[in-house]
Amino acid sequence: MPALPPRAVIREVGLRDGLQSIATILPTARKREWIGAAYAAGIREIEVGSFVPARLLPQLADTAEALACARTLPGLFASVLVPNLKGAERALAAGADLLLVPLSASRAHSLANLRRTPDEVVAEVARIRAARDASGAKALIEGGVGTAFGCTLQGRVDPAEVLRLMQALLDAGADRVSLADTVGYADPNGVRRLFEQALRIAGDRFWCGHFHDTRGLALANVCAALEVGVTRFDASLAGIGGCPHAPGASGNVATEDLAFMLAAMGVATGVDVPRLLALRAALAEWLRGERLFGALARAGLPKTFAAATTDA
Ligand code: ZN
Repeated sequence: MPALPPRAVIREVGLRDGLQSIATILPTARKREWIGAAYAAGIREIEVGSFVPARLLPQLADTAEALACARTLPGLFASVLVPNLKGAERALAAGADLLLVPLSASRAHSLANLRRTPDEVVAEVARIRAARDASGAKALIEGGVGTAFGCTLQGRVDPAEVLRLMQALLDAGADRVSLADTVGYADPNGVRRLFEQALRIAGDRFWCGHFHDTRGLALANVCAALEVGVTRFDASLAGIGGCPHAPGASGNVATEDLAFMLAAMGVATGVDVPRLLALRAALAEWLRGERLFGALARAGLPKTFAAATTDA
C-alpha cells in the first residue's frame, strides 16, 4: 500500500456548494452558528459563500456577513467563490483569504452554468489577478477546474483539455489550482491518473480535490488522490448539495464521513469527529425536510474509534 500523507486539510464547503443547491434559506444567525461550531470542532478552512448576484442565489445573499463572522476566528482561512471580476472585487473588499474562481472544463457545462467558454474564464482570472495585485490584498486566487471527469451535458471531457486549462489558469495568474468531479463521474483509477499529472504540472500550487458523491465513490476517490499526494479536500457537512445540471446528484463527500475515514487511517486533520457529529445533528434540525447524506451519522462511531484518534 502506498504511504499516505501524515496530515490533510478538510475545507468545509457546505455553506456554499451545499446551501446553493437546496431550497431552504439558512438565516445568517444559523450560518454564524455553523461557522463557529465547525471552528470549535477543529475545521480551519471554510468556503463561506459566493459573491454572485443575490437574485441568482438568495441562499448566499449574506456572504459578506458570513465572511465577517469567519474573520473573527483566529487562524480560520475563509474562501469565497467568485464567478467574475465584479464578485472578486467584492470579495477583496470584504477581506476573503481565498477567491475560488470556478472553471468548467466541459464547454457545454461552462456555457450553461457560467455563460462563458472555459478560455473566457481564464481571461477573467487574469483580470482578477490584476485587481488583486492592484488592491494590495494578500488573498489567494484559486482556479477550480470542474467537470474534470465528465459532464452530464457533454459527456466525455478530455483529460488533456482539463490539464491544458489548469496550466492556462496558472499562466493567467491563479496562485492555486484544483480539480473537481462536479457530477460524480470519477473513479479511483481515473483520479489517480489525472491527479498525478495535475500534481506534476502544478506542484505546490495544486490545492484541492473536490468530489461529489453522486455515485457513492467520493471517499474512494479521496483515497486515490491521497495516495498520489493530494492533502486538501472539499467536503460538505451531511453531504448536502448537488448540481442544477446533474439530475439525481448528491452533494460533496460528507465532512463527517471524510473526517472519520482520515482519522481512522491515521491521517491527522485536527478535526474532533464527535463534535462534528453534534454539529451535523444541529444542521439536520435547521434543514428539516432537506435530503441529507452520509453514513456515519446513521451508524455512529465504532466502539474502537477513540483508540484510533491521536489527532494533532
Ligand atoms: Zn461542487
